[in-house]
Amino acid sequence: MIVTKEYMKTRCLELLKERGVEIADITQIVYDLQKKYIPTLTMAVCEEAVDRVLSKREVHNAILTGVELDVLAEQGKLSEPLQTLVASDNPLFGIDEILVLSICNLYGSIGLTNFGYVDKTKPGIIGRLDKLGKETGHCHTFMDDIIGAVAAAAASSVAHNNAV
Ligand code: MG
Repeated sequence: MIVTKEYMKTRCLELLKERGVEIADITQIVYDLQKKYIPTLTMAVCEEAVDRVLSKREVHNAILTGVELDVLAEQGKLSEPLQTLVASDNPLFGIDEILVLSICNLYGSIGLTNFGYVDKTKPGIIGRLDKLGKETGHCHTFMDDIIGAVAAAAASSVAHNNAV
């Protein structure tokens, strides 16, 4: 098949929705990360930044890979010991955080520091997915990092666009 950038973006947006993530959830994290630095910041500016991030091929590749592994783990289809490591969100696994570094680095070092911050504080949808996964048996081992990285990169993009 011919994998166009447009097709990749459409598929990634579908995947986020299928896995319980709304663009508005990511936008809210970006807004909360940047509002203390930019008093005039609007949700529309944050939403545009999220869309910019979600238009990049590096981001598509990370989303496709991470979500596929989450879904296969949920279905018990990975080989052991990877099945157990991903399905249990083993804290020493770490490949979920490594996979999304390509997203964090899109707009420079602010993306990386923001990612570390949301990874620790788990704001909004990131914390909800974590809790929900435990209740419903869904696996979001990669998804929480994908959202954190997209939000962190978008926040970085907002910061750079606002720099004088
Ligand atoms: Mg994770």
